[in-house]
Amino acid sequence: MKLSNYPLKTFKDAPSDAELISHQLMLRAGLIKKLASGIFTWMPFGLKVLRKIEQTVRKEMDASGAFEVMMPTIQPSELWQETNRWEDYGDLLLQIHDRHDRLFCYGPTHEEVITDILRKSVKSYKQLPVNFYQIQTKFRDEIRPRFGVMRAREFLMKDAYSFHLNQESLEEEYENMNQTYQSIFKKLELNFRRVEATSGEIGGSVSHEFHVIADSGEDQIAFCDDENFAANVETLEDKNAPKGGELTYARGIEVGHIFQLGDKYSKSMKLEVLDSNGKNVNPYMGCYGIGISRIVAAAIEQNHDEKGIIWPKAISPFEILIIVLNDKNDSSVLDQALKIYQELKSDGIDVLIDDRDERAGVKFADADLLGIPKQVIVGKRGIEKNIIEVTSRITGEKRDIKISEVASQLKD
Ligand code: ATP
Ligand code: MG
Repeated sequence: MKLSNYPLKTFKDAPSDAELISHQLMLRAGLIKKLASGIFTWMPFGLKVLRKIEQTVRKEMDASGAFEVMMPTIQPSELWQETNRWEDYGDLLLQIHDRHDRLFCYGPTHEEVITDILRKSVKSYKQLPVNFYQIQTKFRDEIRPRFGVMRAREFLMKDAYSFHLNQESLEEEYENMNQTYQSIFKKLELNFRRVEATSGEIGGSVSHEFHVIADSGEDQIAFCDDENFAANVETLEDKNAPKGGELTYARGIEVGHIFQLGDKYSKSMKLEVLDSNGKNVNPYMGCYGIGISRIVAAAIEQNHDEKGIIWPKAISPFEILIIVLNDKNDSSVLDQALKIYQELKSDGIDVLIDDRDERAGVKFADADLLGIPKQVIVGKRGIEKNIIEVTSRITGEKRDIKISEVASQLKD
């Protein structure tokens, strides 16, 4: 991609209402644009990151044996009356009236919808266990939308729902999802921790959250590695903290949450299947969420410096940025840079080239703000010596490589 015709505009400053560093950097680097409170557009540069995270999550969920579906975003209020959650969820629900004055909401979560699907399609224990997931836009009318996409009103979530004949089968899938989440967050190169959690309006008894460790996190978590204990501090009042070892505290950003729901939804919505003795039973349910759009902000909270974003390789919008120190009166530098660009592209590398007619200082500042892990600097002095300079945005390390070896050296 050529930056000269890529729809990306960077900003020196962020608006004063952007308090969190990730929010400031996302606005300054042009990843998102605000439309209204807690409602954002993903611009091309930001959308690439979002899609990479989405793809990683999808791949791991598929490998876990779950089936992808896409449920409607708009849900009839009657379903939520059945579980009493129309009242329990309260003002978080964005309510919508259709032309016949029927009441709906924009879905904040999908336990009711998936349970309705199961009660219409599953009759026998032989159809269980099953796990359905989707990656979809949710709406929650948060009291205090803030920190950009970190706590938005409209946001992208992966939500999954599993159904089981008994508790034992539910626990097995819960462990499968635990493993799947561990491998997702590892693949995304995030420093994270799994902690015991409370279940909130979703219900059920057992639940765990996955937190990205960052000083700006809204939650406080406590852990004790000797005792193999980790919990959201919210839970410490009603659960037993370990007696022996000392607790360590850290701030965390909740990026995932898994729940064992038991029969809460199958009972209230009368989902029944025949067990092997021909008896009707209410299946056990689990649900599993990941905040896809929140992860973008969380990754930046964990990976930045005073100059800008430092993308983990796994989610960087581009693999390489070529910075061209061109000279208006001499096209040879740009020509050479474009040659390298073509070569890398034909090797399948996703590369962005800063071929704009801008001063070197502007280009270097933008490069550090945009955070692409590898910067390839092509300038007149280097070309005369047949070399280009490669800088790692992650380690700051610089090295010179021969122009003839650019493609082979940069492949890995
Ligand atoms: P929180 O405690 O942060 O309000 P929650 O516990 O209400 O979140 P869940 O119902 O567990 O959220 O939703 C699953 C995941 O969706 C969360 O772990 C989080 O990563 C993400 N998420 C929830 N609310 C928001 C939001 N307002 N903006 C962005 N992501 C969100
Ligand atoms: Mg949660």
